[in-house]
Amino acid sequence: RGRSTLSVVVRPYGEGMKLVLSQDITETERADGMRRDFVSNVSHEIRTPLTVLAGFIETMATLPLSDDERQRVMTLMRQQTDRMQTLVGDLLTLAQLEGSPRPAPDRWTALDPLLQRLEADAASLSAGRHQLHFHVEPGYEVAGNPSELASAITNLVTNAVRYTPDGGRIDVAWRVRPDHSGELEVRDTGIGIGREHIPRLTERFYRVDGSRSRDTGGTGLGLSIVKHAVQRHGGELAIESEVGKGSCFRLVLPPPRVRLVRQAAEHTPR
Ligand code: ADP
Repeated sequence: RGRSTLSVVVRPYGEGMKLVLSQDITETERADGMRRDFVSNVSHEIRTPLTVLAGFIETMATLPLSDDERQRVMTLMRQQTDRMQTLVGDLLTLAQLEGSPRPAPDRWTALDPLLQRLEADAASLSAGRHQLHFHVEPGYEVAGNPSELASAITNLVTNAVRYTPDGGRIDVAWRVRPDHSGELEVRDTGIGIGREHIPRLTERFYRVDGSRSRDTGGTGLGLSIVKHAVQRHGGELAIESEVGKGSCFRLVLPPPRVRLVRQAAEHTPR
């Protein structure tokens, strides 16, 4: 990239070209800065559990522990390795999303069974702590990569569970709008998000409350995965939230990626 900007300078194109050159350098610097931030964030996220693990290993190596204490230390160590595994999993998902071609516009997946599976996953994640409701307009298929779409929805539902206190309500709805775009909405009555944070939520590692996110197993990468997956399908992610009231995340897919294959009348309502 640096070399191509140099060749622009030696050609006699005048002042206009110099402006392009300075924009180009700014863009390169911005990309370099983002890469540096990313590497330093990843290093920090990995170093923290590693330091904790090293401390526990030291404890086990030097202190005479009872069986109970040993078990407790092992459980804490497992939490740290789980945390690193989730982080590496999310990093790989992001890398795949960034490095692979856009999902095919003609690979169709039925939404009903996909959402039924996700409903079961959500129920086991919430473990009865929330009122969970799925409302699905039946009979639709969506075009794209089913595992990317499932991972986007799972991330939204996991966040709803993670940031909604026990007893709260979570509604997941799939509906088709009058313009034939499809809308998957995840609404919760959780802690909500301050207006100033909303534009930054899909940045990698951006967290409103770092310790809460980490305590509940968050990596800070979930919403950047959602945004990438949705944009690769030509869609959008919309976020509304109010502190103390709850949040609503809407994933919108454009009309060419949504089709009705069976009329609602053929289905028994769930
Ligand atoms: P994390 O793994 O930390 O949940 P995400 O990228 O999924 O990372 O979300 C970024 C941040 O946005 C979270 O750390 C949290 O502060 C906030 N957030 C996401 N979803 C919700 C929600 N449903 N309710 C309240 N805050 C949320």
